[in-house]
Amino acid sequence: MPLQYIFLSHDVDWRKQGPPKEHVLNRAERFDESTIRNIDSKNPYYNFPQYMEIEERFDARSTFFFRTKYENGDVTDYEDEISSLKKGGWEIGLHCDPSSIYDLAKIRQEKEILESLTRTKVFGNRVHYLGFNNELPKKLQELGFVYDSTVKNSKDQIIKEDFGFFQLERLFEFPITLMDAYMFTYMGLSEEQVLPVVQKALNESRQINASFNIMTIIWHDNVLQMKGGRMYKKILEFLTQQDDVKICTGINLVNILKNA
Ligand SMILES: [Zn+2]
Repeated sequence: MPLQYIFLSHDVDWRKQGPPKEHVLNRAERFDESTIRNIDSKNPYYNFPQYMEIEERFDARSTFFFRTKYENGDVTDYEDEISSLKKGGWEIGLHCDPSSIYDLAKIRQEKEILESLTRTKVFGNRVHYLGFNNELPKKLQELGFVYDSTVKNSKDQIIKEDFGFFQLERLFEFPITLMDAYMFTYMGLSEEQVLPVVQKALNESRQINASFNIMTIIWHDNVLQMKGGRMYKKILEFLTQQDDVKICTGINLVNILKNA
């Protein structure tokens, strides 16, 4: 029986067409030369087929959190991706806009927009930029969400409070243990340090609770071709080699916890 659960997730922060070319060129040092050379024909922020292929290869499934408000873009552009993900066993969650979180009606509207694309209920939420407030869990619960994964207690360290889960009434909250963006900014990691840090986090998870624990990981959908971000495959390879590790979506995890 797996003892260490990994809630694996991807936040879809950018519209399907990606950011303007200048945005990528201003960050050219993050990419291989060939990626930059091909930028006019291939948007390096678009990685859905690759993510699906990698996760299928390792027999892992994750949750993709979609925004409904994209700068100069439209979530309906992702209709085909959402449909393929759903068919393949991935979960679709809401990446709620930080401007919506104080207003029940705005969150409801976002949920309904996404549900019209998934054609099923959406159970999970994570707020873009990790916006949070104490009244949010109540609102999410009222709207039929069963879990949220927005809380992050430390940006630059791996700390005990960012493992596991807690419950806010009936709503499950999965704090974020590791996030790609913070690993390369606040934590200041180089590409070579990515895998050792994931290994270290897993060991801490085992030390905190050897018989059952949860680690929540965010790997943004747009970073797969970036230096550092391209370590994703190696991370999955490492995790799936561990006998005590099981990778799952947020809703899978909630069902495991409810039946425990
Ligand atoms: Zn985001």
